Amino acid sequence: MTQRVKLGRTDLEINPIGFGTNAVGGHNIYPNLNDETGREMVRTAIKNGINFFDTAYIYGPERSEELIGEVMKETGSRDSFIIATKGAHKLVDGKVVFDNSPSFLREAVEGSLKRLGTDYIDLYYIHFPDEHTPKDEAVGALKALKDEGKIRAIGVSNFNLDQLKEANKDGYVDVLQSEYNLFKRDAEKDLLPYTSEHTISFIPYFPLAAGLLGGKYTKETTFQDGRAKNPMFQGEQFIRNLEKVDKVRSIAEAKGAETAHVVLAWYLTRSSIDALIPGAKKPDQVLSNLKTLDVRLTPEEAAEIDRIFS
Ligand code: NAP
Repeated sequence: MTQRVKLGRTDLEINPIGFGTNAVGGHNIYPNLNDETGREMVRTAIKNGINFFDTAYIYGPERSEELIGEVMKETGSRDSFIIATKGAHKLVDGKVVFDNSPSFLREAVEGSLKRLGTDYIDLYYIHFPDEHTPKDEAVGALKALKDEGKIRAIGVSNFNLDQLKEANKDGYVDVLQSEYNLFKRDAEKDLLPYTSEHTISFIPYFPLAAGLLGGKYTKETTFQDGRAKNPMFQGEQFIRNLEKVDKVRSIAEAKGAETAHVVLAWYLTRSSIDALIPGAKKPDQVLSNLKTLDVRLTPEEAAEIDRIFS
């Protein structure tokens, strides 16, 4: 039977392994993406029990939502998809600025509904904080959209602790999405304790550190996208990072598992993390990541992974 968990205190029933779709139509993030491969990844997910899709206006822009909408229409089954999308990016004179104003968020939700070809969004996030809008006012706008049935749950993303506290003044925030992976553990200091205490579900983005924790790169691997300029993927730091990944590979091999799945399983042992949204560039990666659900880490293994990256 396909596994389902409830996302935090929402009524969304999801597979704990979701699919992060910034490489589905995300032409502005990864060059040379093929739209049909994007559609095929979404089809592979839904055929194999993955029902939780993470997208955003800015992936494309717009194209990721459109492609997911196309597959949703093709399958004819809106209810079997749980769609999370995000907005805050506004194009002003060809430049992107963040806007959390109630009027812009309403406009952004309407745009996402149109591109997805649906009349409700399961989870809508404010993608990034802006500088001006009080965060409780921004979330208040999402609460109004929730009351109207246009969205089912409220999320914020890339908010620091103070912004999150302000956003959650009235207790309306259901989900926080922030960068968190074995290399980037800042969230453990303040965000994760807050989400645990307030029953907010925490969705880590970049769970595989954009592929670095996937276990297949070597020091000869080179990158043609944004990773080419990221110090984590270059020089001495890249080599040190690969050494840590090698240690996880040893743990994985001893269990007959793969590195990526052991890494993903480790996050699911953390408080307030109910579900993951690993990205993929090929259908077989989407399928592969489901094997995470077969991995059981002993407390000793989890502690050892913690130690390697502490
Ligand atoms: P990620 O999940 O950390 O890494 C995904 C990459 O890892 C894939 O594109 C693939 O890259 C590799 N991979 C996937 N499965 C693998 C496997 N089983 N074995 C080995 N390698 C594997 O990074 P991400 O996709 O950028 O982030 C995940 C999702 O988070 C995004 O899709 C997006 O939905 C969301 N996100 C949100 C924000 C935000 O601001 N809220 C920011 C970033 C991302 P290669 O094939 O190139 O190795």
